[in-house]
Amino acid sequence: MSSKRSVLLAAQSSLLKAPMQIDIITIFPDFFHGPLDYGIVRRAREAELVKIEICDLRAFTRDRHRTVDDRPFGGGEGMVLKPEPIFESVEALNLAPREERANAKQSVVLLSAQGKRFDQKLASELAGLDRLVLICGRYEGVDERVGTSLADREISIGDYVLSGGELGAAVIVDTVVRLIPGAVGNEASTRQESFFAGPELGGNGLSDKSVRSTRADSTCGSGGLLDYPHYTRPAEFRGMKVPDVLVNGNHEEIRRWRRRSALEKTLRNRPDLLDPDKLSDDDRALLAEIQL
Ligand code: SAH
Repeated sequence: MSSKRSVLLAAQSSLLKAPMQIDIITIFPDFFHGPLDYGIVRRAREAELVKIEICDLRAFTRDRHRTVDDRPFGGGEGMVLKPEPIFESVEALNLAPREERANAKQSVVLLSAQGKRFDQKLASELAGLDRLVLICGRYEGVDERVGTSLADREISIGDYVLSGGELGAAVIVDTVVRLIPGAVGNEASTRQESFFAGPELGGNGLSDKSVRSTRADSTCGSGGLLDYPHYTRPAEFRGMKVPDVLVNGNHEEIRRWRRRSALEKTLRNRPDLLDPDKLSDDDRALLAEIQL
């Protein structure tokens, strides 16, 4: 089969595939009007690449006051989200039993400051799922039994404390949806961004010169580093000039400049991302030129 034809078939089968379904469990369903209604996420929903349902936790309460929280055992500050409505809301989604969820490509995530920290790698993993459920905590948090016996994992979006899981859920949805094939017009662009550590399409962002294309934009995958700087017209704005190398159009020089700039920015802002063992000889040479 020609490679063109196989790419076409892959694209068609990904279109025929049932859309990924994301369910968000929250006490503030209206919160999501806005974050999920713009740009790539909106278009992906309209193109039915993803289906997003918001579940109102209070629909799973049984008392007149629709109570979702209670005082903590052992005393202490604040209120805690009760387990019963959360368990029942997840059960109503008819997921696979917990021990079979991974095989069924399903995952129930509890948003939590105590969770594993969310990053691009975890986003790619979640983007491969058929079903993703996000449980948003509030108040002092969620009864621990939700984390230990209902959710498959706890995820934190960063080392700070939010007042609720909704913003975290919106961050995860945004990051994951743009990785679903077809969501971003040019798939190659999601492979050239900050943190992307996998192979570039039709090239290799790291060291293998033999597969390098001569196009400047296909040789600049971040290889897990930060993205290189972008410029657009005008070439001169308020006395600030675009770097000459980008205007001159020598692809190899552009590639080298972009890689050097990505290394420089990473060294300055995120030295923790620079793993010397993963850098090519070229990268090491470029790094040696950089003086911060
Ligand atoms: N007492 C908790 C914080 C509770 S904040 C603690 O100290 O860890 C209330 C809710 O906000 C949490 O249940 C969680 O759902 C959400 N949340 C807070 N910080 C978060 C973070 N960094 N990432 C994801 N969710 C977070």
